[in-house]
Amino acid sequence: MKDVAYYNGKIAPIAEMMVPMNDRACYFGDGVYDATCAVNHVPMALDDHIDRIYRSAKLIDIDIPMSKEEMKRMLLDLVSRVEGDVLFVYWQVTRGVGMRGHAYSNAGDKPSIWAFVRPNKMRDPYGAYRCITLEDKRFFYCNIKTINLLPAVMANQRAEEAGCDEAIFHRGDRVTECSHSNVHIIKNGVLKTAPCDELILPGITRAHILAICKAQGIPVVEEPFTVKEMMEADEIFFSSSSALTCRIRNIDGQDVGGKDEKTFAAIRDAYQRELEAECGRH
Ligand code: PLP
Repeated sequence: MKDVAYYNGKIAPIAEMMVPMNDRACYFGDGVYDATCAVNHVPMALDDHIDRIYRSAKLIDIDIPMSKEEMKRMLLDLVSRVEGDVLFVYWQVTRGVGMRGHAYSNAGDKPSIWAFVRPNKMRDPYGAYRCITLEDKRFFYCNIKTINLLPAVMANQRAEEAGCDEAIFHRGDRVTECSHSNVHIIKNGVLKTAPCDELILPGITRAHILAICKAQGIPVVEEPFTVKEMMEADEIFFSSSSALTCRIRNIDGQDVGGKDEKTFAAIRDAYQRELEAECGRH
């Protein structure tokens, strides 16, 4: 198949899948999601992503009506149906189908499970990426991977209109993360990344990067950093399961970073090796 969608057990090409209007995803964005890339039909870090969607669901009182093993089997089955060596694997759990009403005590029988798999392209790991900065106008549930993404959608649109690849959010001076990735800086050989609080999503790639730094003896500081610190950092990069690690060389039209390729390359190459070890070369 060219792509595939899943909704509560139904499977069809994405364009043919119909879902009930009363699914609370439609009215409230009332649900959580996760996503990863698959290379050679092997989804990267799938167990980590499945663990995270269960954590996200629990934080908004959704009891996923499927075991982790069943979810894994369902996703692997979908991935096996789609042609292509690099795929995007997306799935979400919403509170289910029920008459519109904000509170969810009577929100319908059971949560809905949605998924799709489609071909994707890897970003160039050796590229030089451009970003804009924007005030972070999101709420305080950024640690939950909710499908409520309007501020991220608006920010990504602004970045695209500016000819850029990502929007970096800050709350006042403090850099939080990007519209759909985490952002990290390297200064004097030390990797600095925002702590996992309610202002950022605990990225799976971020966690792998921290493990790589530990293994390679690169010191890590999980502390907030400012926009000024970022602009003056030796290297700046964003990370996500589909973008992997992307070196940022321009922010708001100003050239930045590019002063410690060695440390950045050590992290990037180790992550590429992990991907190859898990999924094979593409
Ligand atoms: N932060 C946000 C807001 C995201 O949407 C994402 C990914 O979608 C990330 C960070 C990176 O997370 P991961 O590395 O798990 O893909």
